[in-house]
Amino acid sequence: MNRRFALKFRYSTNQAVLVAAAFITLFANQAFFRGLFEALGAGSWRYLHTGSLGLFLFCALVLLLLVFASRPLFKPALVVLFFISAVSAYFMDTYNVIIDSDMLGNVLSTDGGEVMDLLSLRLFVYLLLLGVLPSVIIWRAEIPAVGFRRTLLSSLKLASLSLLIMVALVLISSAFYASFVREQKTLRYRMNPLMPVYSVYKLGKETLAAADTPLQVIGEDAQTPAADIHRELVVMVVGETARADRFSLNGYTRQTNPELEQEEVISFTRVDACGTSTLISVPCMFSLRGRDAFDSMEERSMENALDVLGSAGVNVLWRDNNSNSKGVADRMEFEDFRSPGNNPVCDEECRDEGMLSGLQDYVDRHDEGDILIVLHQMGSHGPAYYKRYPPAFRKFVPTCDSNQLQDCSNEEIDNAYDNTILYTDHFLAAVIGFLRSNDDRFETAMLYASDHGESLGESGVYLHGLPYWIAPDAQTHVAVLMWFGKNYYDADPEVVRLLRDEEFSHDNVFHTLLGLFEIQSGIYDGDKDILQRSRELAGAPSGYQ
Ligand SMILES: [Zn+2]
Repeated sequence: MNRRFALKFRYSTNQAVLVAAAFITLFANQAFFRGLFEALGAGSWRYLHTGSLGLFLFCALVLLLLVFASRPLFKPALVVLFFISAVSAYFMDTYNVIIDSDMLGNVLSTDGGEVMDLLSLRLFVYLLLLGVLPSVIIWRAEIPAVGFRRTLLSSLKLASLSLLIMVALVLISSAFYASFVREQKTLRYRMNPLMPVYSVYKLGKETLAAADTPLQVIGEDAQTPAADIHRELVVMVVGETARADRFSLNGYTRQTNPELEQEEVISFTRVDACGTSTLISVPCMFSLRGRDAFDSMEERSMENALDVLGSAGVNVLWRDNNSNSKGVADRMEFEDFRSPGNNPVCDEECRDEGMLSGLQDYVDRHDEGDILIVLHQMGSHGPAYYKRYPPAFRKFVPTCDSNQLQDCSNEEIDNAYDNTILYTDHFLAAVIGFLRSNDDRFETAMLYASDHGESLGESGVYLHGLPYWIAPDAQTHVAVLMWFGKNYYDADPEVVRLLRDEEFSHDNVFHTLLGLFEIQSGIYDGDKDILQRSRELAGAPSGYQ
């Protein structure tokens, strides 16, 4: 084999740094440059500014790579960076997402099934061209050892030069850089792999800090009132990726709720999610801290609504067909329904309906105390919407039958997504059927809350997980429903219905859950309990009833 085909090069450390930085700047930053070009608008300045920021990014990358310039670390560090860049570039280019520490947490907490949903030929090509190819070249390259002091000295020279160029670039067009920092936050997040690497660092730091924090107990005084002689049976359904505006109950023009429309459900039309990802929203809705104070790392070391209910004597069961409870049910009875072992309703994948299997046995087995059953749905999890419903629910056609959403028309994506809502409609109606069959023995109620919404290609954005301050309503406005059995005495459904267009958020879930069981505790806040709000409304002098 001749030398050229063997891809064997001879670099000094500095040369390798420059080559690697140039490669990543040019080939792994499509999303950044495209966004920048759009943001700059027309005019001759756009080329100059794009060039300037490109060079700035290159110099910043050189500085980053020089951190790892000592010998045993150098090649492995470059390989890791190439792969981080490749994966980040794939997700940013394909789905227009941003790789911050929350998004990274999501990625790291995805399981095998979700990964299968994301695999594609395109991802393989990205990994090959942006990950494997440069890694092989660098790994095979000869980088002669020149001694620690000489390496350090030349590294310092290159670092100084890079810094000098960066300072010069900022000084030359200071007005542009000031506005870039102020107004183009989303573009900064697309500088690959600077933000992904920073996110790895931030997530690692937070994880370590959270690891050895002792569990903080809350609501130790919680109890059900002695006068409450009725037993409550409540099912809380934690939905997945369900947008409020895709429910016909909320006015969507397509009939996506044919079964629930036959039930006395109350659909709340203006509910804000706590976060834009499962990893944030699920723990947050069970958390005493509201969205403003929520921190997903700290949350692991604090008890949540389920702990409070459990210590007040409520029997709590969590069934999961999604992934896991994201820490919420760590101290509760937990059953995994994602495999045929527990779930009898599996075809292409295990269906949410299967979580109702054997549930009556659970209820019959517990002849004392109230019962809360949490069902965590697979729901509308993307991008493979077409996998999320059995064939009978393929009502809106043609559907997008690929995880490469940008290859489908908007109509095909909408159809596949709406079919997932149709299946959720069927599942929730089945939950109501289950509760109704227990009406004579229990005060029954259902609370359904989706974790976050979804971008379905609006402005080229797909999936979810954008930082909250730039996330569109599609990602933050979630479907939330309530239903009450005929013997639920503690609230008048017709008065609760009057609140359907009020502004609520996931902050209301914690206190409404406590309210559903009439829990008395110092931490209970009636103002945030939707039921308590309805009672106040019923007693209001203006007379709503
Ligand atoms: Zn989710």
